[in-house]
Amino acid sequence: MAEPADNKSALKLKRLQEMTLKGKRVLVRVDFNVPLSKAGKVEDDTRIKETVPTIKHLMEAGAKIALVSHLGRPKGKPEAKYSLKPAAAALEKLLGAPVAFVPDCVGAAAEKAVSSLKPGGVALMENLRFHAGEEANDPDFAKALSKLGDFFVQDAFGAIHRAHASTVGVPKFLPGAIGLLVQRELEFLDRVIGNPTRPFLAVIGGAKVSDKLGVLHKLLDRVDAVVIGGGMAYTFLQAQGVSIGKSLLEKDKLQDAQGVVEKAYAKKVECLLPADHVAVREIKAEAQTTVTQGMAIPPELIGVDIGPHTIEFFGEQIAKAKTIFWNGPMGIFEIEAFAKGSLAIAAAMAEATQKGAVTIVGGGDSLAVLAKAGLSDQMTHCSTGGGASLELLEGKILPGLAALAS
Ligand code: AMP
Repeated sequence: MAEPADNKSALKLKRLQEMTLKGKRVLVRVDFNVPLSKAGKVEDDTRIKETVPTIKHLMEAGAKIALVSHLGRPKGKPEAKYSLKPAAAALEKLLGAPVAFVPDCVGAAAEKAVSSLKPGGVALMENLRFHAGEEANDPDFAKALSKLGDFFVQDAFGAIHRAHASTVGVPKFLPGAIGLLVQRELEFLDRVIGNPTRPFLAVIGGAKVSDKLGVLHKLLDRVDAVVIGGGMAYTFLQAQGVSIGKSLLEKDKLQDAQGVVEKAYAKKVECLLPADHVAVREIKAEAQTTVTQGMAIPPELIGVDIGPHTIEFFGEQIAKAKTIFWNGPMGIFEIEAFAKGSLAIAAAMAEATQKGAVTIVGGGDSLAVLAKAGLSDQMTHCSTGGGASLELLEGKILPGLAALAS
């Protein structure tokens, strides 16, 4: 069940439930890369919350739990603003149990802190990226980390597409399993890849065509329809000979975009592009907006969001579908005046969920749109790892999973 169906190499991954961990030291890679306020408080604890089932499972199993994570980009040395200490306080609140914060993730003091935990005790170690060996996947650093545990659990879904010491290095030294969060993510993506209830619609947006080409090609083998919005849609429109004014364009991807449209046509997959746009002369919050009369954008304007007709027509597609995968905003949603399209997609997805569709959302920006709309809890599944979920959907074997496979 925990095997991504499309990966023909069929990774055999151990699950947490199969392990007896009483009294064992368990090193758990989590993703506590959370936003912090200037005052050093956790601003959004979603990622921490998501790992609670795994941590509670281990507490109940009587393990001694050593949590490791990265936070931000501290460039291989300690930097106070990237300390994980605030995350320990947030986790304590969520668990209703004490969490010891350990100021380094390797070394004798760290090892002692873990071994002196009581069974069921939890320690959070300081930021992995305070050591250059983490991102460099240095075997010595991986070995030092592995000394914290008798067993390894990978629950950082957002990090498993990266080959770092805490994802691919540690499993060389410790037996390991996937945690409950990774398991859940794989199960939902498996549903999309494997046997979706039809019609199956993909809603793809965001700025970069290049990032999404692989996944678009793969999805075209599975979906009944795809709608493309956001900045990347303009390259597709230009490839169709539509004027896009000064909108975002990846010139070197015009042929690839055309290739996607042609593949969709050959596969009888509907490929829908925006029919109108919100456009401005300059990208700024107070810019005067114009709604285009149709697909074309006048030469002096920049497309910043899908227009009202497109909202309606994309909404109809969502309402018709039984499985919907959404990744990427429909416009520059960070600016209130250009967020309507993305918010409308979020609302349509929520409505579809209520009517029984399976709705899966991946990617930090789409999750931010959902949070903005207050609809985060209205989806069937929100994926915590944008990059990892896209790579899985592309059929890539993720290094962090391959390393754990037996
Ligand atoms: P990506 O990382 O490729 O998924 O892109 C996400 C970013 O796309 C967000 O920060 C949006 O502001 C941006 N975006 C969406 N629509 C547009 C657009 N029409 N023009 C420029 N950027 C856009």
